[in-house]
Amino acid sequence: MSRIFNFSAGPAVLPQAVLGRAREEMLDWQGSGMSVMEMSHRGKAFMSIAEKAEADLRELMAIPDDYSVLFLQGGASSQFAMVPINLLRGKNKADYINTGAWSKKAIAEAKRYCEVNVAATDEANNFTRVPAQSEWQLDKDAAYVHFTPNETIGGVEFPFLPETGSVPLVADMSSTILSRPIDVSKYGVIYAGAQKNIGPAGLTVVIVRKDLIGQSLDGMPSMFDYAIHDKNDSMYNTPPTYGWYLAGLVFEWIKELGGLQAMAEINQRKAGKLYTAIDGSGFYASPVEPVCRSLMNVPFTLANADLDKAFLAEAEKIGLTSLKGHRSVGGMRASIYNAMPEEGIDALVSFMAEFEKSHG
Ligand SMILES: *Cc1c(COP(=O)(O)O)cnc(C)c1O
Repeated sequence: MSRIFNFSAGPAVLPQAVLGRAREEMLDWQGSGMSVMEMSHRGKAFMSIAEKAEADLRELMAIPDDYSVLFLQGGASSQFAMVPINLLRGKNKADYINTGAWSKKAIAEAKRYCEVNVAATDEANNFTRVPAQSEWQLDKDAAYVHFTPNETIGGVEFPFLPETGSVPLVADMSSTILSRPIDVSKYGVIYAGAQKNIGPAGLTVVIVRKDLIGQSLDGMPSMFDYAIHDKNDSMYNTPPTYGWYLAGLVFEWIKELGGLQAMAEINQRKAGKLYTAIDGSGFYASPVEPVCRSLMNVPFTLANADLDKAFLAEAEKIGLTSLKGHRSVGGMRASIYNAMPEEGIDALVSFMAEFEKSHG
């Protein structure tokens, strides 16, 4: 067997230890005589898996008791709708910060339900920085403020936590959740598709302050109501059981590494190596303002875009894959989520140096 270093933005690399454990437990989960995939979601075995996963996530993120944790489907893209549906609570306006492609999608969806005030945007700079809070035009009547702490495509990360007073703060953390400790109590809602830092595609984690639940818009599907999922412990319908189980294994893996503080140190070291290599060369460049550079998604360009194809082909040959940048940004993008081993970064950095030497 040979594993490549997969720099895909998502679905993304999973910890090898987690995949190994899943393989061991595939046919017979802990003496149950069946795979987790075959279990009733209401049976004792799966209930224990589900409860352990939630407890571990609560412990890792220090989630306060007045927050619900929901294990849903539909991806972050469904949350683009569920957030306004659940959080407008009688109001008809919401603030959005536009820092890139995912913000834009969230904004477009919210416009189906309310008046959207784009309180700040970096579109004029092609999304290479986060507008300082002093530049924002928040609406005092907004039901909530939505932002994207890490823009997966542009590789732009918030270097500060927005201050919104009593207006609930909503964060699309799809590509940054579990990469470092955060103070959950500062947020009204945190949501994330699983396929970047949590587990396989198909599971969506939503962390929501309980007092914000229960006033969803009339006439919407039951499946889009946080209250229904909360009341039913995310088992109103059949949840994505195998994804939930794998997420639980990932949470255990992070706990064994030392939790989110340890994870943050590893991530800083990994990203630091890559940015140092980019900045230290005259051949590679990062388009993102240094204070806003992402620890998870690292876009970079080559001095000559005609060499992009050769770079990708030669990287692929030595097992460094999915480095092509998003079509809207061009160049390269290395997604280096929690599960990307440090050896993967080392291999990429030394390949970049060799490629520069032979083509630069
Ligand atoms: C990947 C991603 C999404 C889309 O997630 P889906 O689960 O495919 O809907 C949304 N927001 C961010 C920040 C992402 O990285």
